[in-house]
Amino acid sequence: MTSIPAPNLVTHPKSSDARGAVSLPVMQGVDSPPRGRTPRTIHYLRLSLTRGCSMRCTYCRPEFDFGADPPALDRGDLVFLVGHLHGRFGLRKLRLTGGEPTTRRDLPEIVDAVAGLGVKDVAMTTNGLTLTRQARTLHNAGLRRVNVSVDTLDAHRFTALTGVDGVDRVLAGIDAALAAGLAVKLNAVVVRGQNEVDLMALLRYAASMNLTLRLIELMPMGPLASAWGRRYVSEAQMRNQLERDGVRRFVPLPGQSHRSDAARLYRAELDDGGTATVGFITPMSEHFCDDCDRLRLTADGEVYPCLMDAPRGNVTDAVRRRDPGAIDAVLNDAYGQKADAHPPTGPAIMTHLGG
Ligand code: SAM
Repeated sequence: MTSIPAPNLVTHPKSSDARGAVSLPVMQGVDSPPRGRTPRTIHYLRLSLTRGCSMRCTYCRPEFDFGADPPALDRGDLVFLVGHLHGRFGLRKLRLTGGEPTTRRDLPEIVDAVAGLGVKDVAMTTNGLTLTRQARTLHNAGLRRVNVSVDTLDAHRFTALTGVDGVDRVLAGIDAALAAGLAVKLNAVVVRGQNEVDLMALLRYAASMNLTLRLIELMPMGPLASAWGRRYVSEAQMRNQLERDGVRRFVPLPGQSHRSDAARLYRAELDDGGTATVGFITPMSEHFCDDCDRLRLTADGEVYPCLMDAPRGNVTDAVRRRDPGAIDAVLNDAYGQKADAHPPTGPAIMTHLGG
């Protein structure tokens, strides 16, 4: 850790107009936050398997983003790299993401291989569209947990948000995942004017399924950052909306850490006498960078120390050469650039990096 004084990072959007629109967060005082950590361990890798996605969510994938080139790292490369991280840095947790990871044809083989290496916790983030077909195969291959992104249950708004008339398929996919033995969490990014009216229906659904719903603050990413100010909904605004729509009280759950879950979890007591578990992921109103030990890697070998930072190296050459020393040099350098607070906007397209 460096001793550079902490910057005055304004991640709390302070100025909002009557409709709640906010301006982009700004960094004041210094050009970048302090950096510098040494990866004695890299316990948690988020691995984006492809840039390709079967959806086009308005807040995630820019209109000009078409299709996907074959990823630079093939299955053998990925498995070698994960094996190296496991052996050298004690990798315990691997989350497969995308793009949409289920669009990668060799996904079951990748899961099988990385689970076979002894990585304890192999999880995936998915839009859920094809889980009815794939859940059992993936569970048999060694996948244990899925986070399913579902931003609304309203069929019309789902189609408008994602570009796919598929909410029923996603819900069937959740049923299939549970039936296959996968642990499931629900993720929803809350976007002003698109789904903030749907939070209570999502929470009641989560309660009925006995699942945790995690509501995520929108991050200003890549070319879509310019729309962030009018789309962003803070945790406080989400809670107000839920309280208007049927939550009587939020009771914090004890014993939480951002290392085990990025969300701050509550038991929500509902007006019908039921309860639900809801989490808020608050990268913008209250970041949790201090507790972040994640490293992110794209299918093209780019290493990101932070979701909202620039890539800080590329392991493709080193991995193709099966050169552990060269891989370590890239990873050490990238991990060493982890900052105490994330930059105000992220340069990456989320569809490529994986959320
Ligand atoms: N296709 C998979 C899915 O739908 O979950 C994995 C990739 S997707 C990029 C991962 C997560 O990032 C999704 O939950 C998505 O809603 C979220 N996401 C996308 N853009 C975001 C943004 N600007 N801010 C916060 N979360 C975002």
